[in-house]
Amino acid sequence: MSAATGAVTDALRELHTRYAGADEGELADYIPELALADPGAFGLALISMDGHRYSAGDAGVPFTVQSVSKPFVYALALSLLGLDEVSRWVNAEPSGEAFNAISLERGTGRPANAMVNAGAIVATALVPDAPGAPRFERILDCLSRFAGRKLDVDEEVYASEAATGDRNRALAHLIRSTGPLPMDPVAAVETYFRQCAVRVTALDLAAMAATLAHGGVNPLTGDRVVPEHVAAQVLAVMATCGMYDASGDWLLRVGLPAKSGVSGGLIAAGPARFGLAAYSPLLDPTGTSVRGRLAIRTLSDRLGLHLMHNPALAGATVTLVTTADELPAVPAGERERARRERVAVAAAQGALDFTAAERVLYALDEAGAGRTGAAVLDLVRVTDLDTVARAMLRGGLARLAADGRRTAVADPDGRLREPGEKTGTVRSFTSRDEAVAWCAATASG
Ligand code: GLN
Repeated sequence: MSAATGAVTDALRELHTRYAGADEGELADYIPELALADPGAFGLALISMDGHRYSAGDAGVPFTVQSVSKPFVYALALSLLGLDEVSRWVNAEPSGEAFNAISLERGTGRPANAMVNAGAIVATALVPDAPGAPRFERILDCLSRFAGRKLDVDEEVYASEAATGDRNRALAHLIRSTGPLPMDPVAAVETYFRQCAVRVTALDLAAMAATLAHGGVNPLTGDRVVPEHVAAQVLAVMATCGMYDASGDWLLRVGLPAKSGVSGGLIAAGPARFGLAAYSPLLDPTGTSVRGRLAIRTLSDRLGLHLMHNPALAGATVTLVTTADELPAVPAGERERARRERVAVAAAQGALDFTAAERVLYALDEAGAGRTGAAVLDLVRVTDLDTVARAMLRGGLARLAADGRRTAVADPDGRLREPGEKTGTVRSFTSRDEAVAWCAATASG
């Protein structure tokens, strides 16, 4: 086993061993077929943004997706109709209530959010039938693309819920009674039962969560399943509403967008980091897998995955703040040294985003660019510039230039250029020495 495989698999195995004996909780039995699940089943899976798969225990054992389908069908509705239209029919406020509560807004009858049953039934109803692709086929296809393989329906579980699902039907009738909806939630509730009966494994769920974490692109298949902004919207609603009446406590203690289901599935997503899933059918009173909750919470603690815990990596971005006369290889001579003294130099490394760009520009000011003279920005060791960082760096250099100051970049890969721009607006060199030499040669003094 390789180093990475060993480290991550060991962490999952250790949690599996640690919590396999936790046998509190109850099997869901209001859907009779779910009460037949093996109470000992327990699987964990993690998939990285590079599509690396790690698992422990029963990660390949099939079970029905149940409420873990809700964020993905919400994602489908959002991709088809957009946030404004979807929000007219289903809100995005935490209900603080159980999954099957009558969470309808006073006056309008709009469900609180798409993670509770009332809102999920509306989200399902919002997916329109298309020629050759009825609503359920579109939903099954979407769930399959999130998982990266063709999924199917557990007909026994579907029949079991269809035979006993009066509470959800009642909810659908109540919703329909409240206002002029563009679709029929009563007709859609049978599709909702089918969507809940789609069969998955913990590894499938990890892939689905990883796809949301990866901006809507499945990291196993490379398939763009939903647009990036939709993935972010869904993660936001999972963070505030995904764990029903335990959502606040979960965000506080675990700090990851998540979704639970009554068959024992549980997903959590680390945006731009990983998708995580657990399967274990013994549930706590909020309808969340007991072992799944323990394992994911401990993993988040141990690996520092809490979203609100982001210690700044000071010094990781800026590698040099100086003036050119302090650099090695300064040619002798007072006049030359004095010229170089007036050239501020800052160097950066790694991938630059908003936060990093702020540091780089601040460093350039510290190096002396905030006062007088020329400025050199060394991007030789920068590996990526996002659009925000590019605009900020270009803007910062343009402000110096507008003050009549000479500016140059060492940017051999042309990262500061806008895509499609041939010669940049900033004077660009392949090395720092050339950029400094050009600035110093023409600096007054
Ligand atoms: N099909 C289930 C229901 O509607 C899903 C609920 C859940 O997983 N929390 O009752």
